[in-house]
Amino acid sequence: MSRFLDEKYHCLECYTPGEQPQDKKYIKLNTNESPYPPSNEVINSIKEKDIADLRLYSDPECRILRKKLAERYGVSESNIYLSNGSDDILNFAFMAYCADGKGVAFADITYGFYRVYAELYRSDAQTIPLEDDFSIDPSKYCGLNKTVVIANPNAPTGRCLGVSDIESIVRSNPDNVVVIDEAYVDFGAESCLPLIKKYDNLLIVRTFSKSRALAGARLGFAISSEAIIEDLNKIKFSTNPYNVNRLTLLAGAAAIDSDDYFSENCRRIASTRDKTVRELELLGFYTVPSKANFIFAKHSDISGHDLYMKLKEQGILVRHFSSPRISDFNRITVGSEDEMSIFLKTTKEILEGAKK
Ligand SMILES: *Cc1c(COP(=O)(O)O)cnc(C)c1O
Repeated sequence: MSRFLDEKYHCLECYTPGEQPQDKKYIKLNTNESPYPPSNEVINSIKEKDIADLRLYSDPECRILRKKLAERYGVSESNIYLSNGSDDILNFAFMAYCADGKGVAFADITYGFYRVYAELYRSDAQTIPLEDDFSIDPSKYCGLNKTVVIANPNAPTGRCLGVSDIESIVRSNPDNVVVIDEAYVDFGAESCLPLIKKYDNLLIVRTFSKSRALAGARLGFAISSEAIIEDLNKIKFSTNPYNVNRLTLLAGAAAIDSDDYFSENCRRIASTRDKTVRELELLGFYTVPSKANFIFAKHSDISGHDLYMKLKEQGILVRHFSSPRISDFNRITVGSEDEMSIFLKTTKEILEGAKK
């Protein structure tokens, strides 16, 4: 840290991204990326000419993609906002609605960035503990009179809430924005998209990083009331109007054109997930019911950290979180069928070693 940094950032605890080691080839089950490549349409969407066109700025209104998303989700273009990954949208939402002592509520165990943004913008943050089984009790979010942020399905647990539960939260906080982060919704949970027509305080955040296999392209979008989308645009046009680059826009548009391909991959991943859960339970693991592309699991014979370390020695990366309530667990991204067989075989060997 230099002596120039504003004092208010001195103690800021950053978000820790999942490791991306370069030392050898790992089976990467630690950052919830897709095991499958984007569609051929996406791969072919970027031509040499488009690379030459990088001398030009991108469209700050992202019109080609906004139009396609509006059609795909049955809303108007004025209900869609596009951004450089969905983290960018969450950042803007905290900046817009929770800064300087304003209240925000989120779960004690959820996406780590919420806490970081709350700290960055000096929100008055309330963390609401998950129940013992890691479920969310929606009644604890009703009538809070502050901004609410919920990942649905939640991360790193994978548990989800139904639309009627979300609706009770949105309805009972009419004077505050309720942010529903649907990063994993395409893997089997129910989206609260239908509520958009009924409530003007619901902000749905989505990403192309997981279900559409474009984590490296950095593309996220929001669906919300026209007024909330205007707020996000106000901040974007006051910070970085070209926050979606030309190549990403092309790739994103091609992804929507080939959405059947991605839906099919989501089904495949969900089926690999359910099969892997059954196998893990046969090995004696406890798993949290997941509707996401990851599994949150623990075993009584080995600590979460030891299993993480031993898998890493064997070339398999999973995500371990050290916070006390979840330190027994690991979050395992659902990879391809082959990757999961290797993971299960290796895990079985580690457990046999741990018993001796
Ligand atoms: C991965 C993830 C995001 C961020 O996605 P990007 O669009 O890649 O920035 C947001 N929310 C949750 C819960 C996530 O797991």
